[in-house]
Amino acid sequence: MNIKELKETVKGEVDAQRAELTELSLRIHDNPELGLNEVKAAQWLTEYLEERGFQLERGICQLPTAFRAACGTKGPTVAFMAEYDALPKLGHACGHNIIATAALGAAVAMKAVLGKTGGTIVVMGTPAEEIIGGKSFMVKRGGFAGIDAALMVHPGVRDTAITSALALVGLDVEFFGRAAHAAARPEDGINALEALIMSFNAINSLRQHIKDRARIHGVITDGGEAANIVPAHAAGSFLVRAEDDDYLETLRERVLACFTGAATATGARLEYKWAEGRYAALRTNLTIAGLYGANMESLGRRIYAPRNDRGLGSTDMGNVSVIMPAIHPSLAIAPLGVSAHSPEFEKAAASEEAHRGMAIGAKALAMTAIDLLAIPENLARAKEEFLRRGEAEG
Ligand SMILES: [Zn+2]
Repeated sequence: MNIKELKETVKGEVDAQRAELTELSLRIHDNPELGLNEVKAAQWLTEYLEERGFQLERGICQLPTAFRAACGTKGPTVAFMAEYDALPKLGHACGHNIIATAALGAAVAMKAVLGKTGGTIVVMGTPAEEIIGGKSFMVKRGGFAGIDAALMVHPGVRDTAITSALALVGLDVEFFGRAAHAAARPEDGINALEALIMSFNAINSLRQHIKDRARIHGVITDGGEAANIVPAHAAGSFLVRAEDDDYLETLRERVLACFTGAATATGARLEYKWAEGRYAALRTNLTIAGLYGANMESLGRRIYAPRNDRGLGSTDMGNVSVIMPAIHPSLAIAPLGVSAHSPEFEKAAASEEAHRGMAIGAKALAMTAIDLLAIPENLARAKEEFLRRGEAEG
């Protein structure tokens, strides 16, 4: 089997789909849908795959907009992740339209060579990456059973093969106090907003004494009704992040203490709820990242080494990366300095540059799948690394 020829074939197959993939990407981009409501995107993506001979399962893992599309035979299974949710108000400011179409392009291209490589290609349609962490539920509900490795690309400002992402958990809080005339009878009131402000201040104090790279941030979603009424209700939404899952556990308790302390101090009653979906820290499989990086470089892109001074986000791909070998490389679609989750990035996600990147990402994903399916030692090495690190990191 000539690996080079197989790779040439998938490159040609991606180019042949380029116009249709770009059209689909723009359609998703121009119809942004929030997590778990990606009805149109899920429909368009599944139609594309079904028309090209993939076996579809829709609404898997009790998530109506999740899907699994498979094509192949005996042998190992490589999955490409599609994400397609948008952000509130900002639209596709995380460029998930590019993630979805790169996955589709790679999968359909692989169909042309599966007869030679053996194995199965799966596209996992994974909804609600931004809000609830759809993949965390899909992992819990067994949606990734039978998959040997999981690959995706995420748009960004640099081409990388290795990425890190922080473990994350969300926390919603409410304080219940007692309304009163703020001037005439303040002594009758219990100020729920003060409890929330005090919590913010306690978190600010805590922040001085937490590990580097851990993050705590939040917003007030209810801060009272009118200035002349002592706020009887206040609510906020927070995210707590850490470099590893153990430290996230430690931090969780310390953050919660900021709220319980404020409840005690003010007399307001606290109700809180930790988010059910939790994002695990991302564990990039270095074996697969190495293969992907070499493929990207053969396509004329320069791969940047991960840098420690750069900020990190979180991704539900972390949850996949702790159950199987996985990669979540960054794909340059916007100039340096443009931040994801900004109006500038939303624009970039519909640009010519983004779609050039999408096609290159699709090619690199398919070429990496060839490396894994056609050369069994590669997948064996990736699995061995996965097991070794699992033992070391717990
Ligand atoms: Zn994203």
